[in-house]
Amino acid sequence: MAKKVLVIGEVRDGELRNVSFESISAGKTIADGGEVVGVLLGENVSGLADSLIHYGADRVIVVDHADLKSYTTDAYQQALLQVFDTESPEAVIMGHTATGKDVSPRLAMKLNSGLISDAISVEVDGGEPVFTRPIYSGKAFEKKKINEGVIFATIRPNNIAPLEADSSRSGDVQKVTVEIKDLRTTIRDVVRKATGGVDLSEAKVIVAGGRGVKSKEGFEPLQELADLLGGAVGASRGACDADYCDYALQIGQTGKVVTPDLYFAIGISGAIQHLAGMSNSKVIVAINKDPEAPIFEVADYGIVGDLFEIVPILTEELKSALV
Ligand code: FAD
Repeated sequence: MAKKVLVIGEVRDGELRNVSFESISAGKTIADGGEVVGVLLGENVSGLADSLIHYGADRVIVVDHADLKSYTTDAYQQALLQVFDTESPEAVIMGHTATGKDVSPRLAMKLNSGLISDAISVEVDGGEPVFTRPIYSGKAFEKKKINEGVIFATIRPNNIAPLEADSSRSGDVQKVTVEIKDLRTTIRDVVRKATGGVDLSEAKVIVAGGRGVKSKEGFEPLQELADLLGGAVGASRGACDADYCDYALQIGQTGKVVTPDLYFAIGISGAIQHLAGMSNSKVIVAINKDPEAPIFEVADYGIVGDLFEIVPILTEELKSALV
């Protein structure tokens, strides 16, 4: 059944995150021939509206407001609820990012709707969207649908392929004014930790190191390999606890959940809590000197040996292959 779907784009550092385009693709499936409306919140973001249209949105609503420059729960919630009021969507989709995880339950509650979080795919069955989401730390999958009210879902980055961008597509871009008041939080300044250029949760290639890397300096060859492949560096909690790297890089049950195309687990034993964050990666390469390490049970390719010998060889081989 054709539906009107609102897709909330996510802007970071003046650019749309990839998950915005993946959400449009999910929105297209759910709309089932209906309208997909992109929503952009921020300050001076109207220049990004066209790219949502190129990736498949039929129309874009731009809410430009100084209080939306940086994400705050109150401001985003107020702005989005006013957009929902005027648009009356049948479905709302956004990324399962820090922003999506924070604001979506609040919005769903205000809409009196259910929320399907962290979906990795969606299909239409009998005219209604059915979402697949991992459960039990990725060991099993369940299919879910919302039978009543607004269909609200967040989608995990890197799982639903965006549509091919078509720069000849056109659509309306509408500027909407909202009233934002009584904010409990204001952002004065955003100070970023220097953790390299590629966003871990959206990276196609992740080079992750564990306690086996043995020091901060030990992570340098991993960064070189990641840079060569246009990827990001990640870490196990063992490496973070040992202060080899920042907790922002931690992958796992209490860290980030990632699904890159290629995941290197280097000097990581493969504890269940680490697997919870990466076992759904498309291809896993493990390097470990212990042939019995549990990481080899989930790895597609395993290299048994000393990481300090293997990583530089791998990097050199890839350098010559990529030239
Ligand atoms: P280790 O288990 O010490 O493994 C190091 C590996 O390096 C070993 O397999 C060793 O053979 C290999 N190695 C050593 N030297 C070399 C070398 N020269 N060459 C090649 N290989 C080498 N962990 C997470 O990662 N993420 C989480 O989110 C997380 N959440 C947790 C939540 C809870 C509630 C609990 C209790 C634990 C959590 N943990 C998490 C911790 C988890 O249980 C493990 O302790 C942790 O993942 C171990 O990290 P590691 O594999 O780097 O270290």
